[in-house]
Amino acid sequence: MTAAEHEPEHSAGYEVDTLIVGAGFAGLGLGIRLRRRAEETGAAASFLILERAHDVGGTWRDNVYPGVACDIPSHLYSYSFRTKPDWSHVYPSGAELQEYLRECAREEGVLPHLRFGETVTDARWDADAGRWLVTTPRGSYRARALVSAVGRLSEPRVPGIKGLHTFTGRVLHTAAWDSSLALRDKRVGLVGTGSSGVQLLPYLAREAAHVTVFQRSAPYVVPRGDRAYTLEEQERFTDPLERQRMRDEIFWQAESAFPQRLGEPEAIGQLHDRARVHLESQVADPALRAALTPDYEIGCKRVPLSDEFYPALTRPNVTLEASALERVDGTTAIAGSGARHDLDVLVFATGFHAARPPFADLVTGRDGIRLAEHWAQGMRAYASIVVAGFPNLFVLDGPNASLGHNSAIYMIEAQLDYVLGALDHLERTDAPLEIPRAAEDAYLAALDAAAADTVWLSGCTSWYVDERSGRLTLLWPGYAHTFRERNGTFDAAVFDGAPIPAR
Ligand code: NAP
Repeated sequence: MTAAEHEPEHSAGYEVDTLIVGAGFAGLGLGIRLRRRAEETGAAASFLILERAHDVGGTWRDNVYPGVACDIPSHLYSYSFRTKPDWSHVYPSGAELQEYLRECAREEGVLPHLRFGETVTDARWDADAGRWLVTTPRGSYRARALVSAVGRLSEPRVPGIKGLHTFTGRVLHTAAWDSSLALRDKRVGLVGTGSSGVQLLPYLAREAAHVTVFQRSAPYVVPRGDRAYTLEEQERFTDPLERQRMRDEIFWQAESAFPQRLGEPEAIGQLHDRARVHLESQVADPALRAALTPDYEIGCKRVPLSDEFYPALTRPNVTLEASALERVDGTTAIAGSGARHDLDVLVFATGFHAARPPFADLVTGRDGIRLAEHWAQGMRAYASIVVAGFPNLFVLDGPNASLGHNSAIYMIEAQLDYVLGALDHLERTDAPLEIPRAAEDAYLAALDAAAADTVWLSGCTSWYVDERSGRLTLLWPGYAHTFRERNGTFDAAVFDGAPIPAR
């Protein structure tokens, strides 16, 4: 794909039925479904996907740090409507996922609908026209429906570290990796030990002269056990039934882990044992082991999978600083413990603005209310997708639509089904669809009640929870299949004030 082919010089004044913002798994998936539907019905596919970057892929385009991979197996972490027989490994690397998404865009005929280099600066609901007006530096668009597919892990977060501007070395975030960076003879500070930091450390330890790992909270880590698929296995997966069987097996195995998230003693005990045995088998030094032992409930934060993280920490050129990076003064990084570390490079593996998506600042709904204002106490939506006061807006990967135990793609596909149902409805009626506030409130109350029993609200800090309200705003507090049952079908009656269905 050449991005230039799909970058108009000026894109002012476009009118489409559906405008999608973002060309990651969610936006691209909707594009593919809309293309296929148009082919089935013979109707025109009136949609565009605005993408601020110059390629598809979202997370998997942006995160190219060494070691980046997904911890959901390949056969499940892909579209059910476009499975792939020849995944190279049990777990997909970032590069393989990116190639998969590029191939999907190319072969499914989505490229003509893509507008690269288009950064949305404003989106507002025009109540008189019943249309969304969307502005980019290049021009403007009008659309009946606006679909936010901007992703939840798309805006890198660097914590406000005092004196960071005085650092004389190089500063990077894992989501903005520079592959030309040479680390030999460099002293590197790695800040953060979530999934990204855990994946990156083994590379840093191999490449750099010295690595200091700033660990504010110890992660629980469980074995990964990745391996390449054999040619025989790949041959077997050319049979669609075999691929489906594999998807089902992975999916239901992941679902069976959900009771751990409810803190059920036997289930969570087994998970604890896996993490403890892994730590004990890979780290012999009792002091290091103690420093790597978490002090919060397992599963409260995402549990990274790695066979290489602990061994990297036992290398002579790696120092575990078991406290936060607090201050920087010139070349010196100062930890919460008071320890000082002289560094040439600082790598922030400090995550993303997931709970407070910057995109919400750009979206204005009915009565001039900004989405960020509506979400002042945390993201909220009915059915995890439609928002009171924001007619014909659909938020993918938004409030309570993530998972801590199963595939994000499964959730996205349930949301795509919902959106397609809603778009059909809009096509028939052309009357704005706005969810009543009472429905949004009732849905949230049910979610809050379900979330209260989960390990995610057991007292750790994580991006799953909004710090302003303490509510679990990112994760679906249930099994993945219950999300599909509850939210995978558009139900017009609720928009007319019918009682919301029970969970
Ligand atoms: P994250 O989970 O939000 O982790 C951020 C890390 O930065 C935490 O360890 C946090 O410590 C630490 N931190 C923040 N400020 C710090 C400071 N001043 N000093 C020291 N540490 C500091 O971010 P992430 O690792 O990028 O992962 C985000 C999400 O992306 C994951 O949860 C996962 O969903 C996804 N992801 C998945 C994979 C995979 O599939 N394998 C890989 C990468 C990312 P605290 O824990 O104390 O807050």
